[in-house]
Amino acid sequence: MIKRRDFIKIAGAAALAPLSLLPLAQDSAAQKANPAPTPTPTPAPTPDYSQYSGTYIITEPCIGHKDTTCADACPVEAIYGKTEDWDQLFINPDECITCGICREMCPYEAIYPFPEVPEKWKSYIGKNIEHFKKK
Ligand code: SF4
Repeated sequence: MIKRRDFIKIAGAAALAPLSLLPLAQDSAAQKANPAPTPTPTPAPTPDYSQYSGTYIITEPCIGHKDTTCADACPVEAIYGKTEDWDQLFINPDECITCGICREMCPYEAIYPFPEVPEKWKSYIGKNIEHFKKK
């Protein structure tokens, strides 16, 4: 036979058992409300644009056209890619004298002075840098 005192101990422990799970439930709810922060992606390194401060850049509208009027008009033959299988033409920044003739000649408005390259085509500055690094 169970003594009255033992019965109260057992009954009390049984009654409190669900409460022992409460901290786990609270932790789970807190995690849902405040999920662990996602790691911030490392920003891409800023390309070195120093050699482009006074040159022209050919951008996306050249792709699919490669109209060579600009290359034919360039007085110092600084535009490359007329006969290569590249997807666009490129201006060599070491040879360009920034006369602006190519920009006037391009029927697709693909050529911009370095500081005026539209935001959406800024990546073409880097593409130009990479292109001449390979040479
Ligand atoms: S700006 Fe003048 S020198 Fe430079 S690529 Fe155009 S045409 Fe050639």
